[in-house]
Amino acid sequence: MTSPAFTSDTVTTPTGRFAPSPTGPLHYGSLLAAVASYLNIRSQNGTWLVRIDDLDPPREIAGAASDILHTLESFGLHWDKDILYQSRRLEAYDEALARLQKKNLIYLCSCSRKDIVQRGESIYTGHCRSGYIAGRQRYAIRLKVSKETLSWHDMIQGSQFSRLFQEHGDFVVRRADGLHAYHLAVVLDDDYQNITESIRGADLLSSTSAQMYLQNALDIEPPQYAHIPVAVNTRGEKLSKQTGAEPISMHDPARTLFKALQDLGQSPPQDLQASSIRDILNWGKQNWALKKIPSKQTL
Ligand code: GLU
Ligand code: ZN
Repeated sequence: MTSPAFTSDTVTTPTGRFAPSPTGPLHYGSLLAAVASYLNIRSQNGTWLVRIDDLDPPREIAGAASDILHTLESFGLHWDKDILYQSRRLEAYDEALARLQKKNLIYLCSCSRKDIVQRGESIYTGHCRSGYIAGRQRYAIRLKVSKETLSWHDMIQGSQFSRLFQEHGDFVVRRADGLHAYHLAVVLDDDYQNITESIRGADLLSSTSAQMYLQNALDIEPPQYAHIPVAVNTRGEKLSKQTGAEPISMHDPARTLFKALQDLGQSPPQDLQASSIRDILNWGKQNWALKKIPSKQTL
């Protein structure tokens, strides 16, 4: 008789990730997400991965990915394993589309943005479900979304409800320009990387329901989600390249890191301010409390 198969995956290693898009240098808001996901994982002695979300070449800036990685290293945020690049995962995305197709969950859509506006729709309510307009140059692929209300628990923001169809409509999974949509890629990659917790900016809170819906359609177990407040400028706009956010200053990383711990509600002692990056991160790891992160959406 053979002995029972040895299963090593009965205990899952807590695994987190930071997944920047290489659209510009790291700014303070993204650093907060990096620090929060890093410390939450390190406090559980888990695995922290970095993924480069480079699936939208028109929005990317040459050199931004290596610039971001260099900044992470300068802040002592060292990752485990190899970096995953979404640009190398296109076959997996197509394979998932084929699975959705088999389940009859996706359809071609020939509508341009103008068509949708002309119909007076702010979200896409399924115009092409029963057939697209032939003869158009470009077709997007959309997911059939049902009208159920989704609910889930966010580790920071608490109970969440989403009327997915009213909020997202039949959202795009492959764009008319042929690029795969962010929701599709993020869901597949989190699964591929065995991510158990997704800690990211609250600007993505409203994306979560769409991603959970896709996970369900693809038989993927969702990670736990935690959305941290996003840093905003004096006009209340999220820090980003579009709003002219300053790249993070490399002048005094220890001070910036200390401020990040403060903004994440961790109340570091004042004298930690004069410490090295390593000591600050160590303090963060020893004293980390996810529940102290403010449960608001902006800072
Ligand atoms: N790449 C996305 C962004 O930079 C984040 C993806 C995610 O954390 O789910 O906004
Ligand atoms: Zn359409």
